[in-house]
Amino acid sequence: AKTIGIIGGGQLGRMLAMAAARLNFQTVVLEPLADCPAAQVASDQIIAAYDDPAALAELAKRCDVVTYEFENVPVAAAERLAKDVPVYPPPKALEMAQDRLTEKRFINDCGIPTARFHAVDSQADLEAALADFGGQGVLKTRRLGYDGKGQRVYRSSADSAEGGYAALGSVPLILESFVSFEREISIIAARGLDGAIACYDPAENIHRDGILHTSTLPASISAETAAAAREAAEKILAALGYVGVIGIEFFALADGSLIANEMAPRVHNSGHWTEAACVVSQFEQHIRAVAGLPLGNPVRHSDCVMQNLIGDDILSVPDWLRRDDVLVHLYGKTESRPGRKMGHITQLRR
Ligand code: ATP
Ligand code: MG
Ligand code: MG
Repeated sequence: AKTIGIIGGGQLGRMLAMAAARLNFQTVVLEPLADCPAAQVASDQIIAAYDDPAALAELAKRCDVVTYEFENVPVAAAERLAKDVPVYPPPKALEMAQDRLTEKRFINDCGIPTARFHAVDSQADLEAALADFGGQGVLKTRRLGYDGKGQRVYRSSADSAEGGYAALGSVPLILESFVSFEREISIIAARGLDGAIACYDPAENIHRDGILHTSTLPASISAETAAAAREAAEKILAALGYVGVIGIEFFALADGSLIANEMAPRVHNSGHWTEAACVVSQFEQHIRAVAGLPLGNPVRHSDCVMQNLIGDDILSVPDWLRRDDVLVHLYGKTESRPGRKMGHITQLRR
């Protein structure tokens, strides 16, 4: 493959385009917003909606393989595109990941536990589901949620369910049982065209206001728990006939067992540390996988902490730049807004 198409023009697309350029690939980004983070570094941009038929036809014509940087590419558009050009990860992965109900059923079918869950399509469904979970649970939109958006937590039966269905927009919802986890971890794994699998070490993640704040390596988990995360990733990748990088989030319980939370069929924020602490980053790994190249070595050479720069955190960049143990990575966004991911830093701990 000489030219790689990337659907989506955010920071993940930008970092994929950078990794692709380093391996001599051209990249064409499909993104409706001009001057997006990815277009600043990609070889070219097609400015159109992600499901625009003419734009997808042009992308297929110009590219040897097409990938994506976000999981909400319409499945029908991805399937249509796959008739003309290889699309990796496979559209089936999009289908399984973009609806939390489908996703949890799929993960359970792989033999991996998740929180218990009920589909919620009405206020009556919500009340019945909460009653089943003793008044506790996390209510989420089935589709399009990210950074904790589209969620409501019920901590006890004292929390009133009234109006809960309408408050999340009267769209299809899921109520998950509340998991009292000890910590949150994620694993970044890759599967090549030849079926080879490479897993990075699990990261321990801390969220702030629903947004990932830090990913720390190593995670404070046992070797058994780390192995369980790897085994779960291998099952999911094999079941999907996956090609590319995937991010899978877990809750680790006090007894060391894991409950899968969600998966993202793309490079993942909790894998940004790999660019500083591994020879081959998750971005290069994804490009290698979709281009049919051998996967790189996922072994970590340093302990580290990745921290997101959200909104005005960007003002701390001059301080980070003065440190000799920190890699700074900025996304080219000119306007800082609360909650907006502006960049990240990775501090090596040697
Ligand atoms: P992301 O930005 O990672 O895609 P998201 O908006 O898709 O996030 P989730 O990962 O499902 O949302 O949930 C966000 C956070 O809320 C989790 O990382 C966890 O801290 C908490 N959470 C989610 N589901 C549960 C649950 N069932 N029990 C307890 N806490 C939960
Ligand atoms: Mg998510
Ligand atoms: Mg999440």
